[in-house]
Amino acid sequence: MSQQVPSSASVVVVGGGVVGLATAYELARAGVRDVVLVERDALGSGSTCKAAGGVRAMFSDPVNVALGARSLETFRDFPARFGQVIDFAPVGYLFLLGTPEAVTDFAAAVALQNDLGLPSRMVDVAEAQRLSPLISPEGLLAAAWSPADGHCTPESVVLGYASAARRAGATVVPHCAATGIDVVDGRVAAVRTEAGTVRTDAVVCAAGAWSAQVGAWAGVDLPVTPLRRQVLVTEPVPGLDPHTPFTIDFATSFYFHREGQGLLLGMSDPEETPGFRLTRSDAWLPRLGEAIERRAPALAGVGVASGWAGLYEMTPDHNALIGRARGVDTFLYATGFSGHGFLMGPAVGEVVRDLYLGEQPFVDVAALDVRRFAGAGARPELNIV
Ligand SMILES: Cc1cc2nc3c(=O)[nH]c(=O)nc-3n(C[C@H](O)[C@H](O)[C@H](O)COP(=O)(O)OP(=O)(O)OC[C@H]3O[C@@H](n4cnc5c(N)ncnc54)[C@H](O)[C@@H]3O)c2cc1C
Repeated sequence: MSQQVPSSASVVVVGGGVVGLATAYELARAGVRDVVLVERDALGSGSTCKAAGGVRAMFSDPVNVALGARSLETFRDFPARFGQVIDFAPVGYLFLLGTPEAVTDFAAAVALQNDLGLPSRMVDVAEAQRLSPLISPEGLLAAAWSPADGHCTPESVVLGYASAARRAGATVVPHCAATGIDVVDGRVAAVRTEAGTVRTDAVVCAAGAWSAQVGAWAGVDLPVTPLRRQVLVTEPVPGLDPHTPFTIDFATSFYFHREGQGLLLGMSDPEETPGFRLTRSDAWLPRLGEAIERRAPALAGVGVASGWAGLYEMTPDHNALIGRARGVDTFLYATGFSGHGFLMGPAVGEVVRDLYLGEQPFVDVAALDVRRFAGAGARPELNIV
């Protein structure tokens, strides 16, 4: 049973994942009164608490580099700023590269990242092996290394933002689904919820994989498609190097990072089809087993302790949608992060705050406007798996 929602708000945020919570916090902290966030289920229970927790600025798109780098500053300072420990481990990101094309693409991305102030660099296979001792060098040509990146605990980030948003004056209402949006003369007039109607001038859609439906209520086309992804956590790995980086075999998308005494393992499944399925399936395991045998053979005998399935929120070019809707310009959206939204949440909260206030964000996100799909403006992000 949800708590009551206020009958009016200056802005309603739909979705209580990292993006919605960071947005509600930043709006309230900036002095916006009567910020209301509604979350259908428990806070963070959508994709955010299913994330592997990787946080990085190592992207091929300069806007993503800026969003990742800005968020990393927040993750680093999180305990001091929010009074919440998030287990931030700055162990670095290591992309292992096995084709000349991948080496060329990552070298170009590293050059861009260096221009933007990041200390990433290309490394040879021997250095990659020193950095991530579990890997086999077979078939590798080089790797891209970003020492300032790492991972942290999504549940703790959710808790930190939710508490801080409430302290700043926002009303955060879990277990309360939005069920519709009223638009009058091209402006948002109200958000309908399970617990009543909230009159409001503005909405922020931060509904992750479920954003297409929220957009449709306001006549806004948000091309976001849910795609199941699964991860496993292993039993303790004997002799595990505590500095093991977030290591990604780019050719297969197999990745791992330290999780307690063991490792968290993940990989995409090319046979997965779009949909809201959240049950675990074994269909990806043979392919994962092959990737482990080849790239991290020392893990082949390690047992699995647990695992889960979650949803990526895919867009056609695997890049985010951030902006104001044309025709309903008090409808703002921040969604479609295509598997890298956890790490962008803190920066996106700041950006959406500024869009709402009509101020210039720290990075120009005009290129992430959904209208790019109407023209020739798709903006592919290459450095994702
Ligand atoms: C297995 C896996 C591993 C991942 N690993 C990483 C990683 O290492 N690093 C990274 O950056 N990202 C990772 N991601 C992606 C990341 O989890 C997402 O990009 C990110 O969590 C998106 O945050 P969000 O706040 O936009 O969405 P969500 O966390 O999904 O929040 C949206 C919320 O909206 C709510 N909602 C939907 N409809 C309604 C409604 N009608 N009314 C009220 N509430 C509604 C949902 O319940 C949900 O809680 C991973 C994802 C998966 C599945």
